[in-house]
Amino acid sequence: MSAFAEQLIIWHDQHGRHHLPWQKNRDPYAIWLSEIMLQQTQVNMVIPYYARFMQKFPTISSLAQAPLDAVLSLWSGLGYYARARNLHVTARKVMHHYQGQFPCTREAIQHLPGIGRSTAAAIAVFAFGQCEAILDGNVKRILARYFGISGFPGETKTQNLLWKKAEESLPIHHQNGKIETYTQALMDLGTAVCTRRAPLCKACPLQSECVALKENRVDQLPTTKPRKPLPQKETTFLLLMQQQNILLEQRPAPGIWGELWCPPEIGIGIDVITYCQHNLNIEVRALIELPILDHQFTHFKLRIHPQLLQVTSSESLATLPKFIWTKPSDALAKGIPAPVRKLLKQTFLSKFSPYRI
Ligand code: SF4
Repeated sequence: MSAFAEQLIIWHDQHGRHHLPWQKNRDPYAIWLSEIMLQQTQVNMVIPYYARFMQKFPTISSLAQAPLDAVLSLWSGLGYYARARNLHVTARKVMHHYQGQFPCTREAIQHLPGIGRSTAAAIAVFAFGQCEAILDGNVKRILARYFGISGFPGETKTQNLLWKKAEESLPIHHQNGKIETYTQALMDLGTAVCTRRAPLCKACPLQSECVALKENRVDQLPTTKPRKPLPQKETTFLLLMQQQNILLEQRPAPGIWGELWCPPEIGIGIDVITYCQHNLNIEVRALIELPILDHQFTHFKLRIHPQLLQVTSSESLATLPKFIWTKPSDALAKGIPAPVRKLLKQTFLSKFSPYRI
């Protein structure tokens, strides 16, 4: 076994995490769900979502049978909603193409929607004890520093080298359970010790052989992405009030916030009153422009200009597909994106708001 793997396994015994909710068993469904939730998301944030999800959908079959809206509702606030949609599609695929049995090899798992090579490897390790290498952001950082590999890890050349190191470092001649311990140790070391900023090298089991530490390059590795400023888009959200209700529209998928519920959205500069007459078939009176909301996606920033409007006609929108009138408090229980949740809370549910419903 490599010294790298051996030191990590010994370290994990005393310092690693042993009581995460998904570590309780080898149920591939539970492990898959946890791995998807943990993508881009901290463990502390994931734990309550994971618990609620497992309570509502304890098996892959229950998830497959659920309506997508119920899945998105439980996911609401966790972000990166494509993950929830892919979970739902994958659950159905496993039920129909694999007779409800989660595939057990990394290659087969990797062919399911929303599962990349590293996530597939983590599932193969934790659910089936297979000796596979993972390479998530934490592991890239550890390997880049330990082996002194420069170059942005998003570039193919650097990524290929990191995969090679990840595979060479596996505890190949492992005893039972060692691959799971090794993989969890890598994840835990990246979270608690070899952190992005201010890593705790003095507490690190890899310090004696770490190239970055020896060469005083820890703060230079891994090489950061050459940064371009994110483009900014602007949009208007129409908060339409009718009695105690507001209007929400289910957004099309695929697309940003696909299948989630949002206030109707129009481009900047479009006349709101005319838009409502022609597109929603209602008369409205403008009340106020609410404070701007800024939200950041991975690839762009979104500046939202919310406008509060009172519906003055008695026409019903019931015939329009994908629209609902709902109380703001009930809207919070639906699948809505985080900025909309914030907007509804501060406009209609805050005790300081003049528009409290
Ligand atoms: S010695 Fe420091 S830089 Fe090297 S792997 Fe450990 S924590 Fe990371």
